[in-house]
Amino acid sequence: MTEPIVIAIDGPSGSGKSSTSRGVADRLGLAYLDTGSMYRAMTLAMLRAGVDLDDPKAIAAAVPTATIHAGTHPLNPTIELNGVDVAEAIRTSEVTAAVSKVAAVPAVRTVLVESQKLAIDTAIAGIVIEGRDIGTVVAPNATLKIYLYADPVARAQRRAAEMGVDDEEAMREALALRDAIDSNRAASPLKQSADAVLVDGTHQTLAEVIDAIVAMLPEANG
Ligand code: C5P
Repeated sequence: MTEPIVIAIDGPSGSGKSSTSRGVADRLGLAYLDTGSMYRAMTLAMLRAGVDLDDPKAIAAAVPTATIHAGTHPLNPTIELNGVDVAEAIRTSEVTAAVSKVAAVPAVRTVLVESQKLAIDTAIAGIVIEGRDIGTVVAPNATLKIYLYADPVARAQRRAAEMGVDDEEAMREALALRDAIDSNRAASPLKQSADAVLVDGTHQTLAEVIDAIVAMLPEANG
């Protein structure tokens, strides 16, 4: 029996991780997990409960009130908070602006990482899993680790177009702020794993990036 394939894709906000990861998973017939959606769902739970996001102890105390489930089909990745679909609610600017504070709290990460490891262990053919700490913490033994980078201007342009907003400069600043918090926190900061392959998508199309990653897997090309 062949070992399940685990592809870890990390990188800063707006680098194209989600589209790339879904494309790679779909191409290879693997499951797909968007771990960012889980941190967003936890943040939504905190906002709804009126938790003070400047109080890590209050955030940690509220963690058990949120049960989060992420579906792993690459063409239909779902996200539920306490059994209710929150796919739209987690994409608001309020959640986006707050998520890095919630994700910095170790008690949040412990619960979500446990569930992410379970998703890896139960993916029969394998999984593409994207986030910030996948290669370093969640899947240190992954078959392939990618650090997906794109320059900040390209990231802001892409994200502004996706969200239908005109102010690319404000978008660049918002992404930079989130990256700074994600990279400088004590618990599992965003960083390139020593054994990850750096892919710079700045001047490549989505299809080119997907092709490049698939080509790195001997298993998928033999
Ligand atoms: O990927 P996405 O932009 O949806 O992630 C939202 C936030 O969730 C990130 O800015 C980061 O604070 C947090 N996150 C994390 N670890 C992960 C995935 C996301 O801390 N593995």
